[in-house]
Amino acid sequence: MAILVTGGTGYIGSHTVVELHQQGLEVIIVDNLSNSKTVVLDKIETISGKRPIFIEADIRDSQALDDIFSEYNIDAVIHFAGLKAVGESVAQPLRYYDNNVVGSLRLLESMAKAKVHNIIFSSSATVYGSPERLPIDEDCALRTTNPYGTNKLQIEQMMGDLCTSDQNWSVVALRYFNPVGAHSSGLIGEDPSGIPNNLMPFITQVASGLREQLSVFGNDYDTPDGSGIRDYIHVVDLAIGHVKALAMFKQSIGFNAINLGTGNGYSVLEMVESFERVNQLKIPYQISPRRPGDIASCYAQPDKAYAVMGWQAEKGLDQMMKDAWHWQSKNPKGYQ
Ligand code: NAD
Ligand code: UDP
Repeated sequence: MAILVTGGTGYIGSHTVVELHQQGLEVIIVDNLSNSKTVVLDKIETISGKRPIFIEADIRDSQALDDIFSEYNIDAVIHFAGLKAVGESVAQPLRYYDNNVVGSLRLLESMAKAKVHNIIFSSSATVYGSPERLPIDEDCALRTTNPYGTNKLQIEQMMGDLCTSDQNWSVVALRYFNPVGAHSSGLIGEDPSGIPNNLMPFITQVASGLREQLSVFGNDYDTPDGSGIRDYIHVVDLAIGHVKALAMFKQSIGFNAINLGTGNGYSVLEMVESFERVNQLKIPYQISPRRPGDIASCYAQPDKAYAVMGWQAEKGLDQMMKDAWHWQSKNPKGYQ
């Protein structure tokens, strides 16, 4: 089987390519390198003993996509390519709609032309906005609160409409909770550009001395210790989720949305405590005001993933902390 992976040189994409290789699958990556570097290909090769085919192209370039589908015999697409910073999406909505929604539309058009009807899409728990109930199951109301979340929801809806129009299509929209950690080799991991928006890379950069201290955004939420609660999931577990989802394509299955989370929520302060304990390091922090747009708690009801594709998260919080630090300490400046 040959799998086209859009955004395959990025954080989650690179870990997924390693898992695909481990299953003996052929991988073709298309990425415009707007948020990744080709050195990732060397690292993937070192880990898996195999180099993916790499095509530098933008998913909005229909000709480039058509060429890929005619040159390679693609069985399914895993679609990671996209811009992902919530704050940036508020400041630059048109750029986000163009890259994420138009990009996905172009990809689906090329797939339709090539009669490739199987796609796994990187969706996000942000489609639940401020969640209707906890833990969050797939039937919770979808109500987004920023352009990034709306992009994800619109792409899901476009894919759903396509499945309604033509029964050959099979879509698995994986709604990720909070991916963290890195491959245990320490060769691939998250390489944020500039100041990290996300908690975990901020903690590891404080630990390595790149940043002075962590700001804990709010200690007055309605949670046991007042700081925000999220469902952190090891990126390798997430990657394996994509391999499991591919197995669903044995027959046409229409549109399916599936949460990928552990079902456990941890607060910011618990994350700091856990990182310190596992890695025997101190993380200086200060309590800061709440970050605009943040919610108190968000964690998954992950049972559907187990029921429909036999997937559940295997790696716990200690492993996430250990692997995140292993990657950061081996690569203090990321892939540079
Ligand atoms: P990433 O930025 O590391 O990877 C995305 C990749 O897509 C990058 O390599 C980038 O160069 C590429 N890309 C972006 N726009 C492109 C375009 N128009 N054409 C071709 N390539 C393009 O991000 P990631 O963390 O690996 O996330 C992957 C996907 O998962 C994204 O769609 C993201 O929205 C989604 N997601 C991520 C998280 C998270 O916390 N990391 C959570 C939920 C969902
Ligand atoms: N957070 C924090 N300090 C930071 C970054 C994040 O306290 O420097 C908190 C944030 O308010 C939230 C949690 O950590 O409660 C996870 O935030 P992240 O940005 O990683 O993920 P998301 O907001 O997408 O769930």
